[in-house]
Amino acid sequence: MITIELSKRQQRIIEIVKESEPITSEQIASNLNVTRATLRPDLAILTMSGILDARPKVGYFYLGKAEVNLFSQQIKNIKVSDIMSVPSIVSEDTSVYEAIVTLFLEDVGTIFVASNGSLTGVVSRKDFLKSAIGGIDINKVPVGMIMTRRPNIITVMGEENVLHAAVKIIEHEVDSLPVIEKTVVDGKENLKVIGKVSKSNITKLFMELCKE
Ligand code: ADP
Repeated sequence: MITIELSKRQQRIIEIVKESEPITSEQIASNLNVTRATLRPDLAILTMSGILDARPKVGYFYLGKAEVNLFSQQIKNIKVSDIMSVPSIVSEDTSVYEAIVTLFLEDVGTIFVASNGSLTGVVSRKDFLKSAIGGIDINKVPVGMIMTRRPNIITVMGEENVLHAAVKIIEHEVDSLPVIEKTVVDGKENLKVIGKVSKSNITKLFMELCKE
């Protein structure tokens, strides 16, 4: 399948045509405050790709053959930072007991662990269950002992698109990813956690896009 990369203006044209079809190129141009000449290449792409139909003396109609592409195009324009939520972060020396309390209080399934402002690990529901089965003293053992550690942490950056995040979540079979900002401090790579993107964020986005 050929994927058409639509520009923001092309997407806007589609919305205008959908709302007001049939609509002439003059009307679309005045709606967008541009000249007809500026719009010509956009309209050519949209009619050639079967998204719009042009009828002489009538105007443009929406055909929508590339609706699926449009949906994926829209998703590709959404960044992780647009949908991320506030992360729950504890330090490595937090007891397993305290971390479980945090899990309940903040109503999350995964907690990120940081040391001196840099991500060091991730601890999830299953890690807590495993530690309970293992019979450890949850008041004494720190989360640092039971967490999944760097370099085995799958992360994402705020500017990556949400599809990248979804692919990582599915491929690595995890529920959430820390959204990080990389800096170098004293020659060491520092991973500042700025957010969290989870299956819930992505499901919510999916629902909102379908509602549109
Ligand atoms: P749950 O424990 O609720 O099934 P996950 O499927 O996310 O949640 O976690 C399964 C395992 O993967 C746990 O051991 C957890 O520490 C680890 N894990 C969770 N998120 C990540 C991540 N982003 N990167 C690496 N490992 C992770």
